[in-house]
Amino acid sequence: MPTKLAALSSTPVSAPAPHSRLADLLLTSDPRQRRCLTVLLLASLVTAIGIALCIAGAVLDVFPGRDVAVVAVLAAATMATFFVIIRSGVNQRFADPTLAYPQIIAAQSLVAAGYAALGPVHTATLPLLVLVMTFGMFTMRAAAVRAACIYTLVAIGAVMLWRSRTDPAHYPPLLECFNFVMTATVLAAIAQLSNHLVSLRARLKSQRLALEDALAQIRELATHDELTGLPNRRHMLDLLNEHAQRRTRGGQRFYVGLIDLDHFKAINDSYGHCVGDEALRGFAQQAQAVLRTTDAIGRWGGEEFLLILPENGPGEPTVGIERLRAALADTAVSSSVPQLRLRFSAGLTRVRDGEPIGQVIERADHALYTAKSAGRGRAVLL
Ligand code: GH3
Ligand code: MG
Ligand code: MG
Repeated sequence: MPTKLAALSSTPVSAPAPHSRLADLLLTSDPRQRRCLTVLLLASLVTAIGIALCIAGAVLDVFPGRDVAVVAVLAAATMATFFVIIRSGVNQRFADPTLAYPQIIAAQSLVAAGYAALGPVHTATLPLLVLVMTFGMFTMRAAAVRAACIYTLVAIGAVMLWRSRTDPAHYPPLLECFNFVMTATVLAAIAQLSNHLVSLRARLKSQRLALEDALAQIRELATHDELTGLPNRRHMLDLLNEHAQRRTRGGQRFYVGLIDLDHFKAINDSYGHCVGDEALRGFAQQAQAVLRTTDAIGRWGGEEFLLILPENGPGEPTVGIERLRAALADTAVSSSVPQLRLRFSAGLTRVRDGEPIGQVIERADHALYTAKSAGRGRAVLL
């Protein structure tokens, strides 16, 4: 996995395409802001079509143009204002940066104004009330959707009442009653549906969090040894390859070491497997505490550990290993057998440029074998 990540991070970043630069300029590169602005642009497109129809209607003399022109200008100004607020980032100061609620209240007010202005074709605006509510359903809390539905009903109801009195020829009172009842029914259904959407969103969110947790756990299990918590053999091989690749690009030289605990079988035989396990964990803890943060240690298998030691200037690579040896001589690794001390042998080798990793490990293993043959409890550098 890390190798793939390293490969990805080393991929040259190409210059963004002109259309993506334009999109960044218009919609920003922040995905959340982008989502808000994209929805707003969709709403603006619907508004623009509505305004175009109003102009056509006024030109064809379907309805008086003056009032409609006022509503059209207000609608365009509202859209532009929201665009500026979101594009400039001012929306981030609000509890809900999508500004869904104020946008919906403004839009429903405009639709109600359009209903009042459009005379003979006023009912054409009713589907817009539903469309505006569906915009809000995806982001707003159920209570906010309910409040917006109530506001819409009050606003459109007031307009219906007012216009049926002032212009009964175009707004016959009985027809307005039908329109009101139908609108109220549809808005009630929308408020109900938004409850379902909210619980669906909550379920999706908790499933996403559970998946993220599971993924983190799987990643940990795939790269770490369960007993000691150290990186496992596969992960150490990935790290070795990463170091080797970095070295080909002018990165640091490094040593590879193999540590094998001395007479470990005797510990198991004398004190039992559980104490052996405890000792392996204790060794891992000590190694992590004593080695440099730039060094890496992982469990290679059984009671063997692999080390990657970057060369940070002149000095023996065995210094850290001897520090670990000294720490282990002083530290109890098992609470039930406090007198137990761990000893180990180590084989070290410096990685040569362009050398296959398998060959490096073979040489480190050979160095380890030499350390064992020479009496254990020592490090050999080959
Ligand atoms: P040497 O000094 O030559 O390395 O002797 P040794 O006894 O350490 O080596 P040997 O290969 O004979 O034995 C290794 C022992 O490590 C045997 C095995 O049971 C034990 N071992 C390997 N993995 C684990 C483990 O996860 N837990 C426990 N408790 N013991 C383990
Ligand atoms: Mg061994
Ligand atoms: Mg051993």
